[in-house]
Amino acid sequence: MLEIKNLHKYFGDLEVLKGIDLEVYEGEVISIIGGSGSGKSTMLRCINGLEKRNKGDIIFNGKNVKHGQKEFIKLRERIGMVFQHFYLFPHKKIIDNITLGPRVVQNVSKVESNEQALKLLEKVGLEDKAEVYPAMLSGGQKQRVAIARALAMKPDIMLFDEPTSALDPELVGEVLQVIQTLAKEGMTMLIVTHEMGFAREVSDRVIFVNEGQIAEMGTPEEIFENPQDENLKRFIQSIY
Ligand code: ATP
Ligand code: MG
Repeated sequence: MLEIKNLHKYFGDLEVLKGIDLEVYEGEVISIIGGSGSGKSTMLRCINGLEKRNKGDIIFNGKNVKHGQKEFIKLRERIGMVFQHFYLFPHKKIIDNITLGPRVVQNVSKVESNEQALKLLEKVGLEDKAEVYPAMLSGGQKQRVAIARALAMKPDIMLFDEPTSALDPELVGEVLQVIQTLAKEGMTMLIVTHEMGFAREVSDRVIFVNEGQIAEMGTPEEIFENPQDENLKRFIQSIY
């Protein structure tokens, strides 16, 4: 469903992605780990078109995702993204944060989008928060709303960029639990995370990114119990 071929990205002279190749199958959960500045966020941002790549192909649902094409916007709607900082609209109620995308971009009616939003809020355990503003919520609750908002667009794939890194430790679990539920339901997901226990539990595959390249890829067991790449070995030691 998603194929990345020889993806290169430069910021000025700095080559941040140096030829990423990855095929993601439907229903797969892939965790992306690696040190700070290795290119994990840039990789996700290239996939959903927030950054323009310099070279390579990103083929999603059989079509090459390219800036400027008419199809680009349509394709991008099918890619949900959740960021470290939730980026909710502070002046909109929770329900309106969730319905905005479907109503404006997909022309879904008010009644239908509201109904769907309430179901999604129930799914993330926040059905009683529909009418409040983001400032009334904890970080973990805001992030769950951000997940519901992304799901409201009915994406085929969800990209998570360190969804729990900005949270107090006691709020991490409730967000991971929502992601875990999505995994069980068969949602295709790419998850950049520093939560190694979670990555181990939820992932079909784990990718270790180092200096803009996929240095190692394997099952959670292979990556965490039998790492081959020297940098990966060091990375894992530094974390445990
Ligand atoms: P972290 O774990 O800290 O989030 P990361 O693996 O997500 O790191 P990226 O954010 O993808 O790393 O950054 C990779 C490199 O690209 C870094 O050297 C960073 O400074 C650089 N970079 C990222 N975004 C930009 C930008 N908009 N302009 C210039 N350089 C950038
Ligand atoms: Mg990052």
